Amino acid sequence: MWTVVGHTKAVGLLDRAAKSGRVSHAYLLAGPPQVGKMPLALNFAQALSCYAEDRPCQTCPACARVLAGKHPDVQIIGLTADEKSREGRLHKEIRIDQIRAIQHMAALRPYEGRYKVFIVDGAERLSEEASNSLLKTLEEPPPHVILILLTVNDKLLLQTVLSRCLKVDLRPLPLATVEQALVERWQVERDEAKRLARLSGGRLGWALSVRLNGELLQQRAARIRSMVELLEATRNERLAAASDLATLYGRSRDAVDEVLALLSGWWRDLLLVKGGCSDRTANIDWADELAEVARQRTLEQITAFIDLIRETRVRLSQNVNARLALEVLLLDMPAGV
Ligand SMILES: [Zn+2]
Repeated sequence: MWTVVGHTKAVGLLDRAAKSGRVSHAYLLAGPPQVGKMPLALNFAQALSCYAEDRPCQTCPACARVLAGKHPDVQIIGLTADEKSREGRLHKEIRIDQIRAIQHMAALRPYEGRYKVFIVDGAERLSEEASNSLLKTLEEPPPHVILILLTVNDKLLLQTVLSRCLKVDLRPLPLATVEQALVERWQVERDEAKRLARLSGGRLGWALSVRLNGELLQQRAARIRSMVELLEATRNERLAAASDLATLYGRSRDAVDEVLALLSGWWRDLLLVKGGCSDRTANIDWADELAEVARQRTLEQITAFIDLIRETRVRLSQNVNARLALEVLLLDMPAGV
């Protein structure tokens, strides 16, 4: 049984591969943060390692060990949760020695199962040196080796790495699917599940992490509040806010991208309000502000600013002058009429 929620097309593809034994040597699971890439990769690793007839069975020792991160033939490489969340380290990368360890282990026969599975979490963080090293394994993979790369942005991967992987795109889940899973599998109360599903934008993992850590929701609300306040701010206040973001960017690129993702989500909601679909907005706690801000802006202003946020995120991923890009963004945020 595949336990990952949703992603039926991807599950179908990987399930057929595991059952038929026609498995590619490298997969790239690409999708937004916390959309379900790791649960899917673990299910696939289970299907490749399981002892039972109907794989993955979720009950045999192999399935249990994969889930617990203790299967000798399934290795996960990436930054620890601690490394990911800690600020103060500029562009933390997956190091070459972590990839060399894969090469070393890949050369050995599997201990128990038919395959050796390597899951590389956050493949966009491979240093160039590490990418080139990984490429050697991708070019001449030992027959029993399966690589599963996970990424939030496949555009940051080397083309030579990309071209050797079978790409599987994971999109946000329908909100009803998130809501139903929260209620049925995690016993979340219906109204709360509905609220979390809408806030999550279809990322079940995000909804689950917020449920365990209420601070994340408060943090989100505080960030949105400061962005809403910027709408009425002076030029100097906007420049100061851009400067703060640029400083944060120096500590953690991911943190800034998260802020911009929030900003983008909020402006997308304005678009929905403008189009008369207020019931579909993600930022349900901001209905009054959304209505007011939407009333004072034209459709053209809103779409142009959403485009600018997207362009800014692309530019920031390309090592531009971050301060300048953020200043342009915040100064161009359309004030009311
Ligand atoms: Zn099993």
